[in-house]
Amino acid sequence: MIQLNDTHPTIAIPELLRILIDEHQLDWDAAWAITSQTFAYTNHTLMPEALECWDEKLVRSLLPRHFSLIKAINARFKKVVEKQWPGDKAVWEKLSVHQNKQVRMANLCVVSGFAVNGVAALHSELVVKDLFPEYHLLWPNKFHNVTNGITPRRWLKQCNPALSSLIDETLKTEWVNDLDALKGLESYADDKKFCQRYQAIKRENKIKLADYVQHTMGLTLNPDAIFDVQIKRLHEYKRQHLNLLHILSLYRQLRDNPEMDMVPRVFLFGAKAAPGYYLAKNIIYAINQVAEKVNNDPLVRDRLKVVFIPDYRVSVAELMIPAADVSEQISTAGKEASGTGNMKLALNGALTVGTLDGANVEIAEQVGEDNIFIFGNTVDQVKALLAKGYDPLKLRKKDKHLDKILKELESGFFSNGDKQAFSLMLDSLLDGGDPYLVLADFADYCAAQQKIDVLYRDQQEWTRKTILNTARVGMFSSDRSIRDYQQRIWQAKR
Ligand SMILES: *Cc1c(COP(=O)(O)O)cnc(C)c1O
Repeated sequence: MIQLNDTHPTIAIPELLRILIDEHQLDWDAAWAITSQTFAYTNHTLMPEALECWDEKLVRSLLPRHFSLIKAINARFKKVVEKQWPGDKAVWEKLSVHQNKQVRMANLCVVSGFAVNGVAALHSELVVKDLFPEYHLLWPNKFHNVTNGITPRRWLKQCNPALSSLIDETLKTEWVNDLDALKGLESYADDKKFCQRYQAIKRENKIKLADYVQHTMGLTLNPDAIFDVQIKRLHEYKRQHLNLLHILSLYRQLRDNPEMDMVPRVFLFGAKAAPGYYLAKNIIYAINQVAEKVNNDPLVRDRLKVVFIPDYRVSVAELMIPAADVSEQISTAGKEASGTGNMKLALNGALTVGTLDGANVEIAEQVGEDNIFIFGNTVDQVKALLAKGYDPLKLRKKDKHLDKILKELESGFFSNGDKQAFSLMLDSLLDGGDPYLVLADFADYCAAQQKIDVLYRDQQEWTRKTILNTARVGMFSSDRSIRDYQQRIWQAKR
């Protein structure tokens, strides 16, 4: 059994065939029988640009034998397709492993493997419905779901020792290897003493993060503010710019109404972008420019802080996650396969503001709808909006406040007069072709954020919900994920 983690190791498929045929003298049928019972493939994304296609010229020149084996796989598969869809050229062009002088690695995995899985319930459904419907018709039993997980050793015991000790003391059981045991904390969500200690630990973790930010960036953070955290790769579909628009909305409101009553909030970002992804770099630049302005505006009076922590990496995540009050999981519905940051943050007692996307759906099921802030268009609503023609300029025209915010970005106010500074980001937001529908979710996102402001004022109720999050996300342990692979995919006997 070989589990292909995404399409990156796909070349192992023709390599195994080569070893069996060329080095062990098996005939095709015997070699194929072994190979097609060996590989299982985990799909990690539906984004078309992330599905690997290797240039025929590259494969043929570097790996001529593998290329001929890929063509042999394709020729034999063609007979299967011809039988199911006689004479249907369009279907063949879609399913073919070798097409338009390219080798399609995902197709090669599905054709050659005995199992295919997505990484969250919604994602696995979309793998069947949107990505591979014809393959599903051919082989309905090949398709599975294995919802991702995170290791509680790193993402609770190691990164949050204080909370781990409190859980040890409270449950008196070895929860770290049996994360469902956290359910035992539910009955302490109304226990005054437990709540006080849980709350004090969160505050200590916020002070530790504030010390790090003071040290590395020279910024002073108030640990009594809401720590609102978005940490993940920078990508349009993850919509860090939606978060930024909400920050700009608060900043505008504070200047329009200097006495506005709001719970102080610190917006913390951590993200890196692929070096050639200019739009992502532009969004990072915009966040940093807004941070510079907001953090130095005396009128704001520390009610608003924006912090872009540089060099985001696991060690920084281990510091930020235990300190988070709010977890930003705001991808366009249908675009985030699973997410795992969402699980880490919920486990450490952050409340999620999120769309019905990836594993957020299952997190909402587990923690209960009263203990999460779900907003925005659903997968079906996103599809309907795109089908009827999405028009962000119309949304801008209807929403005077949004228009004001966008005008400020366009005016050079945040960029020393440079009106073009954020044009990559603004063009993507305002182009009717924005497939991520940022402006379509803006109003509902701001409404969800307003509910967070209201709830945080009731510390008892807030703390109760955060404890219920920790108590109810045990199923997102990677131990459960591995058991699912064992039971649903490998079925190995011990
Ligand atoms: C968990 C983790 C991620 C994945 O975060 P998502 O929010 O699921 O995209 C990325 N980078 C680091 C350093 C992480 O620890």
